[in-house]
Amino acid sequence: MKHELTCIVCPRGCRIQVWEEEGVHRCEGNQCIRGEVYAIQEVTEPRRMFTSTVQLNGSQLKRCPVVSSSAIKKTDVFKVVDILENVVLEAPVFLNQVVIKNILESGIDIIASRSIKKDAEASD
Ligand code: SF4
Repeated sequence: MKHELTCIVCPRGCRIQVWEEEGVHRCEGNQCIRGEVYAIQEVTEPRRMFTSTVQLNGSQLKRCPVVSSSAIKKTDVFKVVDILENVVLEAPVFLNQVVIKNILESGIDIIASRSIKKDAEASD
């Protein structure tokens, strides 16, 4: 079966066809190796950068934005959402602070994507 997808690695947006031939994935339409790597991963184990928010205490902001340190498997997205529902951070929070280390034993951390001061420090 041939898959057709648009490469999202760079703005050129090449249309790439991917298919399997005798156990090997082959690509056509990509203009560079990065597109081939992306396309094969997309049909074998698609991944996405994960962004969300978690509950935050000690600040006027009630949620803190978080991001994965690298792309997680699409099949893990809802598991990560469930885990983050039970996370409560205390302000202050610092940019890139690790919120959950090695989530789902993936080697990927969930980190804060901004700094947030405590209420008392907010008027500094
Ligand atoms: S295949 Fe290469 S040139 Fe084409 S969109 Fe992907 S990264 Fe860009």
